[in-house]
Amino acid sequence: MSTQAPHPTLLIPGPIEFDDAVLQSMSHYAESHVAPGFVKTFGETLTMVRKLFQSTNPAAQPLVVSGSGTLGWDVVAANLVEKGENALVLHSGYFADSFAACLETYGANATQLKAPIGDRPSFEAIEQALREKPYKIITITHVDTSTGVLSDVKRVTEIVRRVSPQTLVVVDGVCSVGCEEIAFDEWDLDVVLTASQKAIGCPPGLSILMLSPRAIETFKARKTPPASYYSSLANWIPIMQNYENLKPSYFATPSTQLIHALHTTLSQITSRPIRERFAAHRQASDRVKAAVAELGLQQLASKPENQAHAMTAIWLPEGLAPPDVLPGLLKRGVIFAAGLHKEVATKYIRFGHMGVSITDPARGDIDKAIAALKEAITDAKQAKGL
Ligand SMILES: *Cc1c(COP(=O)(O)O)cnc(C)c1O
Repeated sequence: MSTQAPHPTLLIPGPIEFDDAVLQSMSHYAESHVAPGFVKTFGETLTMVRKLFQSTNPAAQPLVVSGSGTLGWDVVAANLVEKGENALVLHSGYFADSFAACLETYGANATQLKAPIGDRPSFEAIEQALREKPYKIITITHVDTSTGVLSDVKRVTEIVRRVSPQTLVVVDGVCSVGCEEIAFDEWDLDVVLTASQKAIGCPPGLSILMLSPRAIETFKARKTPPASYYSSLANWIPIMQNYENLKPSYFATPSTQLIHALHTTLSQITSRPIRERFAAHRQASDRVKAAVAELGLQQLASKPENQAHAMTAIWLPEGLAPPDVLPGLLKRGVIFAAGLHKEVATKYIRFGHMGVSITDPARGDIDKAIAALKEAITDAKQAKGL
C-alpha cells in the first residue's frame, strides 16, 4: 500500500507519479550542503548520472543544478555558442521553437529545420542542411513532448560525424532520459540535457546534463566569456568534480532534499540493467498504442519509427476538444494533458506512460488509464451527439 494520500493518477508527460521511497527521501533532516553526509549523497548521485547515460568515460562531465529542464537550454546557449555562430535546430514540435528562442537570446543564429506536425526532419534534409553552412551545434529533441515524436539520435549523430564532424551534437532528452535508449559514449554525443520530473521520476527542480570532453574543450576555447553567471560552466564544473571526489564545495546552494530524491530514484534505476527499463517502456507503449488504434483513434506521430515509448499524443475524434474528455478521465481517476503544439492544441490529448506507472505493474495504472480513455471518449461522443 502506498503511503501517499489518495489522488488521481498523474499520467501527463511529466511530472509523473512518484515512488513512495523517492518522496520519503525528501523528508530527510536538515544537513549542511558541505557536510560529509550530503557530500557523499551528491557525489554518488553524480556517479549514477554517468550510469544513467551509459557513460564510462571519466572525461565526460555530469552536472546537476537547481532549476528545471529549461535551464539546460541556457547552459548550452550561454556556454557552447558565441554571438553570431550558427545553430541547427531540428524541429519535431513545440520544444524546438523554445530551444531556438533560448539560443537566440544569447546571440546565436538559430536555423530551424522543420517537419510537418507528427513527423521529424528527414535524414537527407539534415545532411543537406549540414552541407550548406558550418554549424557550431545541432540540437535534437529526442522526444518532443508536444507531439510524441521520437527522433533517431544515433542516426543523426552518425550523419553529423560524417558530414560536419566538429559540430556539437546536443540532445534535449527532457522527456526521454530514463525510458528511451541513450548511449552517450557509444553514440559520440556532446550534450544530453534532462530534468528531474519526467522519465526519471523525481520531483521537479533539477536540471541534469552530461557533457562530452569535446563540449568542455569548446567551452574552454571561447573567445568571449559566457553571458550568464548562474549557468556558466566555469562556475559549475569544478563544483561537480569536487562533489564526485567527495570534497565539499560551494558555488550556489544545492537543493539538498531534491538531491536525496534523485539519489533514491537513480539507485532504483541503476540497480537493474537499464535495457530492461527501456524494454518495459517499449512494451507498455505498444499496449497503449494498440488500445488507441482499437478505439479508432490516430496518433500525431503517424509512423511507428517516429513514436515515443513514454508518451502518446492522440488526436481526438472530429468535434471533440480536450475539455470534453479530460474531466471524464479525471472522474475515473486519471489525469492526461491537453494538447501543447500551438497550431493544433485544441484537437488532441497527451498520455504519459513512464516511470513507476510502468516499472511497477501492480499499480495497474496503464490498464486503468486505457479503460478510462475508452469510457471518457464514448461518453463525450454521446454528450455531443456524435
Ligand atoms: C518538459 C520539457 C522541457 C522543459 O522542461 P521544464 O522542466 O519544464 O523546464 C524541455 N524539453 C522537453 C522535450 C520537455 O519535454
